Amino acid sequence: MKKILNYINGELVEPASGQYLDNFDPSRGTVYSKIPQSEFQDVEMATKAAEKAFPEWSAKTAKERSKIMLKVADLIEENLEKLAHAESLDNGKPYKLAKAVDIPRARDNFAFFATAILHDEAPFYNMGTSGFNYTLRQPIGVVGCISPWNLPLYLFSWKIAPALASGNCVVAKPSEVTPMTAFLLSEICIEAGMPAGVLNIVHGLGPGAGQAIIDHPKIKAISFTGGTKTGEHIARIAGPKFKKLSLELGGKNPNIIFADCDFDKAVKTSVTSSFANQGQICLCGSRIFVERSIYDKFKTAFVERVKGLKVGPPEENDSRMGALVSKDHLEKVMGYIELAKEEGGSIIHGGNKVELEGEYSNGYFLEPTVIEGLKYDCRTNQEEIFGPVVTLTPFDTEEEVLMMANSTQYGLASTVWTENLNKAHRVAGLVESGIVWINCWLVRDLRTLFGGMKSSGVGREGGYEALHFFTEAKNICFQYDH
Ligand code: NAD
Repeated sequence: MKKILNYINGELVEPASGQYLDNFDPSRGTVYSKIPQSEFQDVEMATKAAEKAFPEWSAKTAKERSKIMLKVADLIEENLEKLAHAESLDNGKPYKLAKAVDIPRARDNFAFFATAILHDEAPFYNMGTSGFNYTLRQPIGVVGCISPWNLPLYLFSWKIAPALASGNCVVAKPSEVTPMTAFLLSEICIEAGMPAGVLNIVHGLGPGAGQAIIDHPKIKAISFTGGTKTGEHIARIAGPKFKKLSLELGGKNPNIIFADCDFDKAVKTSVTSSFANQGQICLCGSRIFVERSIYDKFKTAFVERVKGLKVGPPEENDSRMGALVSKDHLEKVMGYIELAKEEGGSIIHGGNKVELEGEYSNGYFLEPTVIEGLKYDCRTNQEEIFGPVVTLTPFDTEEEVLMMANSTQYGLASTVWTENLNKAHRVAGLVESGIVWINCWLVRDLRTLFGGMKSSGVGREGGYEALHFFTEAKNICFQYDH
């Protein structure tokens, strides 16, 4: 059975405890590899290696760092199929999706930040004949990056790449639920000639290895993506230690469909934004609000299209949905379907486990599920489900839909569908979320900021926001001696 290893000080090593955790293939419900159960000792070794590597890595020119990171990007591209198969097996997502989205995006993350640092600028404030100020941005030192299971390599690299590009050394922990592509990335870093200790990848559980990272006094900044509860815990630990914190947390995103939308495009894109990656993307629109005059028409067209989504083995080319990531998660999502029924909702499509045959008979497959008839403020419509479950709710006015859209504790992403330019931008300005898509979904430009408001997070990633997060800014003032 394949054994994943930690990547510390440039080498692949066993965990100090010698203990391993089971790694499941969610499409078959079987254990297929072993994950190091790292603890404080492993994080301590990784942090020491990172501290040792920091002076040399941070002293490299942007061009030198860029060259090594571009080599990593090239190797990710060369290994596209291998990485996509690994991601699909580890996470349960369709291979086709991993090959088209997850792995190319991980490559782009490295390439983007590797080249962004070549075009950086710094503010200069001229005080005329008296002097001037300029801003110096310096790497922080050793930083921690902790990522979730839904887009494993994609989100892991989204943190690591700007941290390394800015001149920091990194202690990173991928999710214990999906560690495989992070392990393959460590092999790629060795091949790319990444200097020892610059990037360290420690595997293990949140309360073990994760906790050791957030507690460690030498780790000066934490970039975290995951659930709101974990984010709250991290903030409580890291806040009093004055660590820099970037928290990308949960969501409950509204998808607002006005009667004057491009109907076919809204239906088609809404099916994707509801069920891509089995609904396990933090940006999926899980609350669909439809203007009453087109509610029935939208519902019929939407459900008709959802019926065409094949739930099947992740490796099969025509599978549009694969398995949910774990048994626990499947049970959590199914619990919410039961709750929706108790709250008076009608399941108008799905709601059941999908029983596949043969080797996939123990996989964690669930039908795409559409629910209507729920109040906007019930638990099903307020709490994050993070699975293939959406609710449909009619609305009459712009004010009403904004009130319902903004009623949750979350504020990550929203989608607005209307052909009326004024309405589109008015609603986009009033909806409480860090990201708004008008007449589209998941269109990404890596230069733009990314992140949520309210309980969806603190700070922004993306573009220069991420590069700035991973630096300390310093104002330098100079006065002429007349
Ligand atoms: P999670 O919070 O359970 O785990 C995320 C990571 O934190 C894992 O690596 C885990 O091991 C680690 N962790 C857990 N406890 C820890 C602790 N005490 N100290 C340090 N690290 C700890 O989240 P998850 O279930 O892996 O991911 C799903 C969640 O992530 C959802 O809520 C989803 O909305 C969110 N998410 C948010 C974004 C975003 O950009 N805002 C993107 C993707 C996923």
